[in-house]
Amino acid sequence: MPGGFAGYWMKQWSVYKGSCGQFGEIGIDHSDPESEWAYQSKLLQRLTPLVKREHVLVIHCRGIKDDCGTEAFLLLLHHLKKRISRMQRIHLHCLTGYPYVLERWLEQFPETWFGLTSMVKNFDRYQRDSLDFVKEYRLLLETDAPYYKLEGKP
Ligand SMILES: [Zn+2]
Repeated sequence: MPGGFAGYWMKQWSVYKGSCGQFGEIGIDHSDPESEWAYQSKLLQRLTPLVKREHVLVIHCRGIKDDCGTEAFLLLLHHLKKRISRMQRIHLHCLTGYPYVLERWLEQFPETWFGLTSMVKNFDRYQRDSLDFVKEYRLLLETDAPYYKLEGKP
């Protein structure tokens, strides 16, 4: 089993399989070693046909470290638009994308809700601008990620 995001996903599968209405999280993580990228794409090709219309598809997308992530988002869109309905309800968690990405994403998947973590406090000007493309009621605050420490707490 690979490490990184793909390995994490495989471990989560037993938790989410058959549960109420969520599928995932699945996606692309290019902050993982490049040797795992092809496996991530293969995993997406195997898993996306299992997504049902009634699921909320939870998406994870992360670009190369210290990059804006556009390449990862566009690759992910390429995979998803072949197999996922345009009207699929999607939770794109831990949003970090640039305006170009948000425009392309919403053209393809208008039923997307976007999760913001504490990473938002480090957003650059372009990432802040991307929020203009999202209706306020489609923004979700993700406060439960265990790997984000609360400020002022040990
Ligand atoms: Zn994630």
